Amino acid sequence: MRSTEAVAYYFNQAAAELGLSESMKTLLLTPQRSIKVEVSIPMDNGEIGNFVGYRVQHDSSRGPFKGGLRYHPQVDTDEVAALASLMTWKTAVVDVPYGGGKGGIQCDPKKLSLGELERLTRKFVQRIHDFIGPKIDIPAPDMGTDGQVMAWIANEYSKFHGFEPGVVTGKPVELHGIVGREEATGRGVATITREVVKRQGKTLEGMTVAVQGFGNVGSISARFLAGMGARIVAISDVKGGIYNPSGLDLEALASFARSHGTVTGFSPGETVTNEQLLTLPVDILIPAALGDVITTDIARNMKASLIVEGANNPTFPEADEILNKNGVIVVPDILANAGGVIVSYFEWVQNLQNFRWTYDQVVREQDSKMSQSFDKVYEISKARNLSLRLAAYYVAIQRVAKATELGGY
Ligand code: NAD
Repeated sequence: MRSTEAVAYYFNQAAAELGLSESMKTLLLTPQRSIKVEVSIPMDNGEIGNFVGYRVQHDSSRGPFKGGLRYHPQVDTDEVAALASLMTWKTAVVDVPYGGGKGGIQCDPKKLSLGELERLTRKFVQRIHDFIGPKIDIPAPDMGTDGQVMAWIANEYSKFHGFEPGVVTGKPVELHGIVGREEATGRGVATITREVVKRQGKTLEGMTVAVQGFGNVGSISARFLAGMGARIVAISDVKGGIYNPSGLDLEALASFARSHGTVTGFSPGETVTNEQLLTLPVDILIPAALGDVITTDIARNMKASLIVEGANNPTFPEADEILNKNGVIVVPDILANAGGVIVSYFEWVQNLQNFRWTYDQVVREQDSKMSQSFDKVYEISKARNLSLRLAAYYVAIQRVAKATELGGY
């Protein structure tokens, strides 16, 4: 099953548990609006560059649409629609007042100059500005986009609608962004891991952890988990991984990765492949690189007893079933990596109020929101004998269905 189909698959399972009618299921599965626009720009060489941009607005029963904007060669309607629905369930499970959306432009940002990227972004805003806004749909960075792209969007949007920094989140701190947003997803992964372990009557002290991915989510999850006492024994990136059962020195590893462009070759440690990393004898595994990495074969050979999904859709549904049968606890992406959207929500609130939060306030509020969300999902999983994934979907779908009913159709 493709990862784009996985969200609908989990939705259907949880909806059956909730006893939702067929018509409500259809309503909740169907995106409210799907936008596809031509985004042609003058390229640096004088030719016309033709691109296609997408924005799918899945559900807004609980608030404005919210979700990332990615610049990637494989962006298409199906992928964007699946990710938009994932955002609906993610914002609902952590109870922030948003619906779900996602967008993107099919392009390879690595092959575009800064000027071309800026023209592309501004043209996209010219095409869709009437469909986004702080009370309508609030994009954020995703693969291939960053704070600079958000700054261009806010600036272009202001030419049509005036000063509205809350039209996007993930902005640079110097331009109405919020402190602590960069590290929010990784920090949230660590918080959720701490909460699961606490429920098992244990602490993270001395627990061994393997992390796939050493980008934003992977490196920051590792840093915070190490700060909570865990021993990070393996880390990988696109070129391969490094394993040291005695624990990796994360600062030295980060500086090695900066100078060599990869973690492979770091010493002391042995080189492992990305596949080997996933089946190492560790207590906790954090997939934090890309989707579709935990296959049925890997699930059968997995030694970790806890998986916390930093990446979106890292586990194939068939593999998820094997993990459940084997008693492996899997904290699903919609809960585990929701730290980013939670702090995005704080940024939006800060923008609407023209008021700045302190770093300590951001960290405290994020911790509290993530712990409460975990408690709710854990309680449902125990009460209804569901995996954490189905319990998370159960909580999310129940909230969205209730809001839909209360608001009316
Ligand atoms: P990133 O680009 O900063 O880092 C990605 C890391 O994965 C890099 O270390 C890269 O080398 C590695 N990688 C790439 N291809 C790989 C491969 N084939 N095998 C192994 N490693 C590979 O990205 P990120 O922001 O850390 O995002 C990671 C995942 O988390 C993505 O699935 C993303 O959708 C998800 N996510 C990110 C955020 C966020 O706030 N950054 C929020 C929610 C979900």
